[in-house]
Amino acid sequence: MKLDKELKSKIEYATIGICGRLQMATPLLILDRKEFLQLGTVFRNQCKNKFMAFHISYIKKYKNLGYAIPKANVIFIDVNGINRKQLKLHSKALEKQTGEKRKIKAKELLAQILSHELCHLRYPSLLHGQRFQDVTRAIFKGKSLKYIESIAGTVKRHTI
Ligand SMILES: [Zn+2]
Repeated sequence: MKLDKELKSKIEYATIGICGRLQMATPLLILDRKEFLQLGTVFRNQCKNKFMAFHISYIKKYKNLGYAIPKANVIFIDVNGINRKQLKLHSKALEKQTGEKRKIKAKELLAQILSHELCHLRYPSLLHGQRFQDVTRAIFKGKSLKYIESIAGTVKRHTI
C-alpha cells in the first residue's frame, strides 16, 4: 500500500471515529516506518527511563506492521509495509484460525491492524488471546461500546 495524503487522512478519520465510539483520546498516529524510527530521539529526550528506545529496537528487530505504545498514546502502522507477501501471510493465518479460505484485501488488513492497535490502547492489560481477538473484531465491525465492554470483561481501562 502506498501511503499518500488521501490514505493518511482516511486512516486519521477512521481513527477519530473509532476513538469517539470507544470514548478514548485519539492517539498520535505514525504511519511511516522511517518517521517512527526517528521518533526515538524525540521520546528519548523526554523519557528518562528510555522506554521508547526499547520500542524502537523492537520494531527494528521484528518489523511489525502495527505497534501500540499505550503509555505514550502512540500507534504505529507500517502502511507501506502492507504488501502482497503480507496479504498472503495474513490470508493463511485467517484460514488457520477460522477455516475461512479467502484473500484478505489490503484495506481490510489495514483496518484490522488499526482495530488491533486501538484495542491495545483501550485495554492495555488485555493480552493477546481469544478475548483480545473478540474485542478487536468487535471494534473492527463497529460494535457499540456497551457491547465491547461486555466482552472485554473486567480488564482495566486505559485512562488519560
Ligand atoms: Zn498486538
